[in-house]
Amino acid sequence: MNENPYYVPGIPEDDTLDHIVIAEGLGGLVKCIAINTTKSAAELCRIHETSSAASAALGRFITGSLLISESMKRPTDKQTTILKCQGPLKGITCVADFGFKVRAYPIENNIPTEYYRPGKINVSAAVGEGTLTVIRDLGLKEPYVGSTQLISGEIAEDFTYYLAKSEQTPSIVSLGVLIENGEVTHSGGLMIQLLPGAGDNEIDYLEARAKDFPEISFLLSEGFTPAKILDLFMGDPDLKYLSGSPVSFECTCSKYRMSEGLIALGKKELTELASDEKGIDTQCHFCNKSYHFTTEDIKELIRNC
Ligand SMILES: [Zn+2]
Repeated sequence: MNENPYYVPGIPEDDTLDHIVIAEGLGGLVKCIAINTTKSAAELCRIHETSSAASAALGRFITGSLLISESMKRPTDKQTTILKCQGPLKGITCVADFGFKVRAYPIENNIPTEYYRPGKINVSAAVGEGTLTVIRDLGLKEPYVGSTQLISGEIAEDFTYYLAKSEQTPSIVSLGVLIENGEVTHSGGLMIQLLPGAGDNEIDYLEARAKDFPEISFLLSEGFTPAKILDLFMGDPDLKYLSGSPVSFECTCSKYRMSEGLIALGKKELTELASDEKGIDTQCHFCNKSYHFTTEDIKELIRNC
């Protein structure tokens, strides 16, 4: 028996590492999920050299995407979330593979940062109007695709609206990213969803709990783990921790995958590329790693077209 009341099977031994915790509250009528994405968000923001506003948006977006990827059940499942917006950020693409492995990139990285008050970034000024699209490839014939308009541009509200409208799942979503001296120091989120059988009592209870609940990034900076955040939010002595999992930034790119993209260009385009004796460099959008293809490599790809 583990004596730690916040022990959850599956979480990393070092509970300051990124991880997610899934629990059930109010007698099994509510699903509760909390996540710490600090290290993944910080690494992505370093790779993409994001300004503070872009870091806040990117951190929140990967966190929301990971929270809603929890429903994926099989190792081959994959979820792509696309934020398309008219603000200076222009958009973010995020892919979450089964097992909470995430990669993402913003369209614009170096955008101006506006503040509501010192330390509180105005993310909606960076995002503006737009859409949130979720594509889940669950191994079926067609992927599941859902899309909604952005209602605030602060991202958490946009995920809440998406879940209610597109997936008919009433939810509370809270996302927070803390940035100090241009670096992400804390990033995480919380998602609470009603399960079948929940009614007005549960809704009233959760709305009261959500009112004036501290910001997630503040709680993380105070050393709260996801399990402890859920405990604080729910205030339910019978909260049942079901499972946990590490969360990580992971890119799946390789020279082979890049070559598949090149083959897709077709014979004509490749023949043109092969005429440059220096060869070509291709870069992965997600991790900025570049792959060199020599003229010989390209000729080989043409033979495979
Ligand atoms: Zn990559």
